[in-house]
Amino acid sequence: MYPIIHLTQRSNQPAFIINQDLVSLLLVSWNLKLCLRKWRPDVVSLIFIRLKHCMQQKTTCFFQGNHDWARHVPMKLTYAFSKEYLINYLKISDIKVVFKRAFGKWASVIPVSFIETDDYGFADIRIGFYSGDHGDGEPFDGVLGVLAHSFSPESGKFHLDAAETWAIDFEMEKSPVAVDLESVAIHEIGHLLGLAHSPNKEAVMYATLKPRDKKVDLALDDIQGVQALYGSNPNFTFGSLLESDISTNPAVNLRIRWFMWATLILLWFLMIM
Ligand SMILES: [Zn+2]
Ligand SMILES: [Zn+2]
Repeated sequence: MYPIIHLTQRSNQPAFIINQDLVSLLLVSWNLKLCLRKWRPDVVSLIFIRLKHCMQQKTTCFFQGNHDWARHVPMKLTYAFSKEYLINYLKISDIKVVFKRAFGKWASVIPVSFIETDDYGFADIRIGFYSGDHGDGEPFDGVLGVLAHSFSPESGKFHLDAAETWAIDFEMEKSPVAVDLESVAIHEIGHLLGLAHSPNKEAVMYATLKPRDKKVDLALDDIQGVQALYGSNPNFTFGSLLESDISTNPAVNLRIRWFMWATLILLWFLMIM
């Protein structure tokens, strides 16, 4: 049996990194006050250790074991939609456009292409919307909570919770509990390719997604993770990605910049003492 992985929704995200930052700032201040002249090198190294840790944490990606699709690259994987288990308030043609875009995001960075087929029984990846207990030992839990689940390679099962209010366009779907179909599709395809969750909040492989949130761009973390399994698409370059990564992650950059300024000010303060 393949392990199963979920994308879940939570309204309150833990502010883990911010709390760590505050603790380290308090430690630095305390050290500075108590041990200023005698332990000067310790104070400085503490700041640098914290800075290094903060930066390292942003580039970590975890895999779920070493599972991938054991085929020759470049490889082709087929996908199909269940004819029986669908939702009636979205057009299947619109759903297909969303999934094509989602598969395309991954295909642009690895030498894997995804081809839609009508042959559900023989498709590598089989997509359907299911309610409650649907026979795979992982019953869905109704509105929000678990949004979807998929299995690691080479199972190919891709199940979405039919109880969610799935949205393709938030302008059309005003429900406060609407969930972006494309964001969830991209996340679950990552699992189907063999990726586990990332601790990086900007990554599409981060474990949670809030209602009405959209996360459809692969982060550096996602790309490095999937390329470690399949290699790089020959047409992919990191240059363009790095530019967009910086512009879409202002919070991370602000945090790192903030620590750099704090470090410089403290170093200056130590030098004049
Ligand atoms: Zn997940
Ligand atoms: Zn299922």
